[in-house]
This record gives sequence, C-alpha cells and structure tokens, in this order.
Amino acid sequence: MIVDFRSDTVTKPSSAMLDAMFSAETGDDVFGEDPTVNALQNYVANYFGKEASLFCSSGTQTNQIAINVHVQPGGEVICHEESHIYKYEGGGIAKNSGASVRLLQGNRGRITKEQIEKWINPEHDVHFPLTQLISLEDTANRGGGAIYNFEDIKNISAFSRSNKIPLHLDGARLMNALIETKIDPKEYAQQFDSISLCLSKGLGAPIGSVLIGSNDFIKKAHRVRKVFGGGMRQAGIIAAAGLYALQNNVDRLAIDHFHAKLLSETMHSFSWIKEIVDVETNIIVVVLKEETKRDYIIQELANKGIKTIAFGPGMIRFVTHLDVSAEQVNYTLEKLKEI
Ligand SMILES: *Cc1c(COP(=O)(O)O)cnc(C)c1O
Repeated sequence: MIVDFRSDTVTKPSSAMLDAMFSAETGDDVFGEDPTVNALQNYVANYFGKEASLFCSSGTQTNQIAINVHVQPGGEVICHEESHIYKYEGGGIAKNSGASVRLLQGNRGRITKEQIEKWINPEHDVHFPLTQLISLEDTANRGGGAIYNFEDIKNISAFSRSNKIPLHLDGARLMNALIETKIDPKEYAQQFDSISLCLSKGLGAPIGSVLIGSNDFIKKAHRVRKVFGGGMRQAGIIAAAGLYALQNNVDRLAIDHFHAKLLSETMHSFSWIKEIVDVETNIIVVVLKEETKRDYIIQELANKGIKTIAFGPGMIRFVTHLDVSAEQVNYTLEKLKEI
C-alpha cells in the first residue's frame, strides 16, 4: 500500500469529477464566453458574498495578480516572514510588481494588528516605501495548518480600512479553516479586499484557483491575468472540476482533520518524536528528537509506502487529503509503530 502524505496537492480527480469535466459546456473564456467558467466565478462570488471572482491557473497566479493590482512599484507589502507569497512564489513580489516587503515574525505563520501597526510607514516621510498592502495566510502552511482567530482578523481588517491599506488573504486552505471554525464565509470574506482560494489543494480539483473581490478589483485583476499569460480559452473543462469540488468536497474536509488528529495522537508517544505541532486542520508537523535523522526517517517511512516531506531542519510534514482513506490511515498507524 502507498499512502501519499506529501501534500494535499497530490489528489487525483475522481471519476465523478472527470465526468463533470468531460460533459462541461465550454466557450472562449478570453471572450468571456465560457459558461462553465462563468458559473464557477458566480458560484464563488455568491458563496463569499463578494461582487466578483476570477478563475486562474494557480494559487501563485491569484496571489501575484492581487499583489500587482494593489501595489505600485516601490511600494511595500506587509506579511509573515514565512508566508507563501514571499517564501514560495519565486520572488514574484519583487519581480512582477517591483515591490518591497516588510516581513514580520509571528506565532505559527500568523501576525497581529499590534505588529502591523508598528510597520506602517509614515506617508509624509520620503525616506520610506509606501505601505500598500497587508497580506495574511489562513490556514498558515508554515504554521502547520494553524487557523487565525477571527477576532484577530477583524482587528486587522478594521485597522487596514481606517488606514486605507488593502487587506489580501492567501486562502489556499481557507475552506479547511472555515470547516473547523464554522464561521459564515460571507462574514469572513467581508474582512478582506481580495481573497485567493485554491481548488487544487484539499478540495481535490486537478488545476485552478479563484481570486475574489469587488467588481472594480476583479476588472483590474482580469487585465493583469492577461498580461501574466493567464488568459485561458475553453477553460470550462477545468473550471468544471473546481465547481464539482466546491459542491461536493467541502464538508468532507472534516474527515481529513479527523485523520490528522488521529495520526498525531498516536505519534505523540513515539520515542523518536520530540513534539508534534498542535493539529488544527489537515497538516501534521513532526519535530524529531534527533534533527540529523530526518532524511533517514523519511526514507524508512517511504520504504513502508508512507510518503512524507521534509519541512525544515529536524521536521517532517504529513498532510491528509481526500485520497487518504480511513483504511490507509489505519495502515499508517500500524506501520509507524515499526519505526
Ligand atoms: C499551495 C499554496 C499556494 C498556491 O500554490 P500553487 O501551487 O501556485 O497553486 C498559495 N499559498 C499557500 C499557503 C499554499 O499552500
């Protein structure tokens, strides 16, 4: 048996999802004529109570488009030092938008209004880059799938509005957060000027992310998507998978969270593990007693069919997702005891 815990991006489209893709009505989306893309964009905008949304090829693309719309060259983006937009998007903030970053430290990938407040550069002083965007990540990947406290988000949102600085959310795994907290998606989305949502993570679509915002924002984003080479033609084929994912695979994220908790509870007692970062959603970060044994343990696990990924010095990440079944979790629990 092979169990792939490397990432929730490894899921493959189910046969029902493939059927939806196969029978999707299509048109040229650069002309705005793909009915399935339009259906997905309407569905997402309604779901989050926002005016509009835009289907894009990846989460990197939605984030980078959002940054490009919000920020002028020479401006500054405030984000956590380990945020995806900074750490894992190939230097895109600098390369695509010519912007600088103010990186903040913070508990498990999250930042607070009190921290942000200190780093808003005074507009009247020509020395400083203009602070033009605040960006949060929920759930926070480097934080081991940590969820923001909604009160903290509301505080940041109120602060950003009163300072007229837009607030972006990298919501690659936003659905994992909302399933856990049960916060109304519309009330949540209201706090942000733009949101990037991945369809190809735990939701199980093969391709695609959606950028969400006001009509005015999405109109600008649409232009940037074209400039970044993201205008797609009969994209309904893949949008159908995203729509299917949103209509069928949201509630079941709770199963992934249950599996992650089950795995972490069992692993707690193992002699080779120093600690496990508290599991809040579908990510388990294991901290090893002996940092130097990381690659050896990853290989030992792989020899038993359990695929995991290195997550920094002495750390291994497991991610649960819809292609990890209860049976595979039980198998893993048995095999882990042999390590
Ligand atoms: C996966 C991910 C993204 C987007 O990645 P793509 O591979 O470009 O779709 C963005 N932010 C976070 C936190 C992610 O985990």
